[in-house]
Amino acid sequence: MLYLRFMNRAVVSLILAVLCVSCAPPPPSRMEFVLGTLCSVNLFERGTAAEYDAVFARFREIQGIMAFTGAEDTDLDLINLNAGLRPAAVPGELLDVLEQARRYAELSGGAFDPTIGPLVRLWGIGGESPRIPGAAEIEKALDLVDWRDLVIDRAAGTAFLRRRGQSLDLGAIAKGYAADQAAVILGRDRPAIIDLGGNILALGERQGRENWRIGVQDPLEDRGNYLGVLGVKNKSVVTSGNYERYFEEGGLRYHHILSTDDGYPVRNGLLSVTIVADRSIDADALSTVCFALGPEEGLALVEALPNTEAVFVREDRVVILSSGAPFTLTGEGYSLMPTSSSSNTR
Ligand code: ADP
Ligand code: MG
Repeated sequence: MLYLRFMNRAVVSLILAVLCVSCAPPPPSRMEFVLGTLCSVNLFERGTAAEYDAVFARFREIQGIMAFTGAEDTDLDLINLNAGLRPAAVPGELLDVLEQARRYAELSGGAFDPTIGPLVRLWGIGGESPRIPGAAEIEKALDLVDWRDLVIDRAAGTAFLRRRGQSLDLGAIAKGYAADQAAVILGRDRPAIIDLGGNILALGERQGRENWRIGVQDPLEDRGNYLGVLGVKNKSVVTSGNYERYFEEGGLRYHHILSTDDGYPVRNGLLSVTIVADRSIDADALSTVCFALGPEEGLALVEALPNTEAVFVREDRVVILSSGAPFTLTGEGYSLMPTSSSSNTR
């Protein structure tokens, strides 16, 4: 009798323990610093710890392949250190991303260029000691920037930069690739928000049917103040802006998107460009491409691409939309540029 009672109690507590584990609320989201930025993944109580582990492990893996460290740490570093010397054997997925980057370099006539490394290092924007380089230094670095010197050999599994001193920087595209890879792990049909420092992939639909409402940062206000909202399902929304990383000197702002024409931060009257596309790698690359090209050429490019929309914000607070941009203006002091599509002009 005593024995049985003991057994019962043991069984009951075992059952309770099992119930407790299975009833413990799954984590609603996870946030970590990786890929040079604060990354968050939100699976809305439907994700498991194992899924979060897998996604963040993948982000760290991509960082280990594609980050620029300057040392011999990543596969990208290996290509850079062997510039002008010999092709470097690197993982196939790095070759994939390099091919995409090269496509956008070609598409933008070189305004977007993955061999921007020497200029990025020279300015050091976003690093510990950014500075305004001298004209001669800029000229020397700019001379090394040329995507046509990137040789990709798929059969050999190698990448090569033709000239010594050249270096690749995938800062404008790698986060988009990483977001797409998270979607590969999680599947595209479930509700999830993958936010890699503002590079957003909104998977599935909100509450099973509604659009996600993604705020577009007001470039002139503190973070979290929006100038408008994009309503999207299963899309990536990525912004490039002059407020993301910069330093100021002599009353001037020097930001992190550099012109391959003159080697200085791009100045073309834009504050930001937001792109909506199916794949995050495209949205990420195109936001930088369009910022570098400027509103006229950038808009023409977006209009020529299928399933791609854009929101350009100019310094004079005029907002320019592509013909199908699912955007609603909410910010004070901004106005929409009239377009031929009446649905967007409110
Ligand atoms: P963020 O890194 O803030 O998301 P972007 O996606 O626009 O912003 O990428 C900016 C980064 O891209 C820079 O920090 C630099 O590493 C790189 N970059 C700067 N200028 C260019 C350019 N003209 N072409 C390609 N990459 C660039
Ligand atoms: Mg980008």
